[in-house]
Amino acid sequence: MTKIDQSYIQDKFVEYCKVNTRSDEQSTAVPTTPGQVDLLKIIEKELEKLGLKDISFSEEDSYLVGKLSSTTNKEVTPIGFVAHVDTADFNSENIRPQVHKNYDGKDISLKEGRILSTSEFPSLNKHIGETLITADGSTLLGADDKAGIAGLLGMLKFLKENSSIEHGDVWVAFGPDEEIGKGAARFNVKRFPVEFAYTLDNGDPGDIAFETFNAAAATVDFHGTVVHPGEAYGLMVNAALMASEFIQGLPASEVPENSRDFDGYFMILSNIGNVDHAEIQLIIRDFDTNSFEQKKKLVTGLVGKLNQKYGLNRVSLKMHDQYRSPGDLIKQHPYVVNLVLHAYKTLGLKPKVIPFRGGTDGDFISEKGIPTPNLFNGGANFHGPYEYVTTESMALLAKTLVEIAKQHVLLNNHRDESPLKRKY
Ligand SMILES: [Zn+2]
Repeated sequence: MTKIDQSYIQDKFVEYCKVNTRSDEQSTAVPTTPGQVDLLKIIEKELEKLGLKDISFSEEDSYLVGKLSSTTNKEVTPIGFVAHVDTADFNSENIRPQVHKNYDGKDISLKEGRILSTSEFPSLNKHIGETLITADGSTLLGADDKAGIAGLLGMLKFLKENSSIEHGDVWVAFGPDEEIGKGAARFNVKRFPVEFAYTLDNGDPGDIAFETFNAAAATVDFHGTVVHPGEAYGLMVNAALMASEFIQGLPASEVPENSRDFDGYFMILSNIGNVDHAEIQLIIRDFDTNSFEQKKKLVTGLVGKLNQKYGLNRVSLKMHDQYRSPGDLIKQHPYVVNLVLHAYKTLGLKPKVIPFRGGTDGDFISEKGIPTPNLFNGGANFHGPYEYVTTESMALLAKTLVEIAKQHVLLNNHRDESPLKRKY
């Protein structure tokens, strides 16, 4: 049996980092920037080399998918892995990955006077002796999520070279525009016929995240009555004061600056007003579906109370859901999580169920009926010039994905719940 090919993973990672795939919030194109298609086409060729089947790229959703065919006669449902090709909103031109072999644990001087220091980023100490890859200081690196892509390819290469290892159909999907929350929303999952999947986006080895926020946004309008202040007695209704009364009605402690882990919050985005008219924009976030609904009810209730007090339907509310946590769906299918926990334990990784305090591709894909938790990609300090990853972490990711595919063959017939039936 051959080993996980670390130099292959490293080469692919460095090559892909150099392609500028920064996504663009302002663009309405699919995908939002052409560099993303360039990289998808490069990966498409790689999938062909690795012998994948049913490779396809669709211009409609800009997703590239392919399948590593099953090597077993046992009954196993198809599983999938997902990584995104775009990078965050930070300089991505002429990215020059720096490879520091046998990292000695010392600070690293980057361009523009930046220093990647162990005092500021103590997690570097975990990687002494490994091959550390950084940007040169003038750009981001793009480990988010090219480390996920490189790890995925490492898994495919290993399984191809070791065809005696039994696994079911393993699908892979590479998509655009994750950083701006647009890519996976468009993904036509008919092209991805898996029972469940995992995103490989951020996180540390051993992490699994399947609960993210439920998210809603609201605009509240307040209409006052303007009269001369000298003759205002019993007549004036001040919209700006109504707006502040509304804010006073929200729980003061449930704000982002007071929230962490599984806490939810209300956040006032803007509060503009005068006597005549005021407008408040806010967002609501909560991991728990019930308390998410309660938070929305509180807002509706406050609007009702103010209307009762001031009459004439002076306060109007527009509220809509933005995205849903996949937590409820995934909790109904504990096998999807247990399989990963089992693989982690087999590899000696310490499993950690973590909250993901933001949206992910997995939210959108789960909403389309495919339970999709997030695992990890092994990088750190994402979205800026101090980003780094080690070759060893990406190889560990590849090894973990191999283990998940192997364990799925062993555990599939012993699950407590029956496999999820999907209309592909
Ligand atoms: Zn990402």
